[in-house]
Amino acid sequence: MTTRKRYYIKINSEYCKGCGLCLEVCPKNVLALGTAMNSRGQHTAHPANAGECIGCLQCADICPDTAIEIDEEQS
Ligand code: SF4
Ligand code: SF4
Repeated sequence: MTTRKRYYIKINSEYCKGCGLCLEVCPKNVLALGTAMNSRGQHTAHPANAGECIGCLQCADICPDTAIEIDEEQS
């Protein structure tokens, strides 16, 4: 039996400016803009649906502020 890989999504809220580019490219609608604000008063992205992440890295690649890290969870 194969178990689907799971990914840990880390978003640095102090780097994120809430531009929404990562939400647009994610093929699995994993990311969302939250209501919480960073220290600059910007609503930041968070992994609202982390279990759906396929580790494609498109969000990390497009983020202009290198705010996203994706790591494969070790089981
Ligand atoms: S692309 Fe980067 S800066 Fe823009 S909302 Fe996503 S994490 Fe934040
Ligand atoms: S790695 Fe891919 S599937 Fe996972 S949150 Fe980023 S864009 Fe979405």
